[in-house]
Amino acid sequence: MDSTRRTFLTSAGAAAAQNVAHGQDHEHEHQVVPSDPALRVKALESLLVEKGLVDRAALDLLVDRFEHKVGPRNGARVVARAWVDPAYKQRLLIDAPSAIAELGYTGGQGEHMLVVENGPKVHNLVVCTLCSCYPWAVLGLPPVWYKSAAYRSRAVIEPRGVLREFGTQLDEDVEVHVWDSTAELRYIVLPERPADTEGLNEEQLAALVTRDAMVGVSKVVPPGAKA
Ligand code: FE
Repeated sequence: MDSTRRTFLTSAGAAAAQNVAHGQDHEHEHQVVPSDPALRVKALESLLVEKGLVDRAALDLLVDRFEHKVGPRNGARVVARAWVDPAYKQRLLIDAPSAIAELGYTGGQGEHMLVVENGPKVHNLVVCTLCSCYPWAVLGLPPVWYKSAAYRSRAVIEPRGVLREFGTQLDEDVEVHVWDSTAELRYIVLPERPADTEGLNEEQLAALVTRDAMVGVSKVVPPGAKA
């Protein structure tokens, strides 16, 4: 991973430099260079390392964590375990960080988490109205829409409208609970287990669970059904 990333960034820098030089006498573009942020990251990283302020190995560990170790698959495994193991589910609802740590997922903005359970008459929706607080340990980094001003405000003002736009239709008698995440407490939705999944094992169940269902904008659909 490290070398791939380094190679990419090194060649990106070279390509950009070449393109700038080339662009002086040409109007057209020969190749797509990496985005500004990628180049800025490279420049910043080089400077910080050069000045001895950060250790390259530490940076690589951090990148590796977010590329390979955290993400919504972790949360999906937690949900599937809760579906098949009632005692685990109880522990999860009472003390989410401990129950989630049982599966090996800790740290990374996951120190204080609360799991909120969907049911036939209750649907939970998670937002961070202030910024983008999110349970990284189980869901990875938040999607762009989660951080958008529109989602952050509308999830609170008109949650049913937001849910409809995500394709989630709720009956009128279903209560919608909106949970506002903070840096101190982050929420995860425990979606309802879909019908006709009695024959599936834990791993197959986990494969059905989506990030959006754990944020609460979607439901988990049975296998074979169109989301
Ligand atoms: Fe936030």
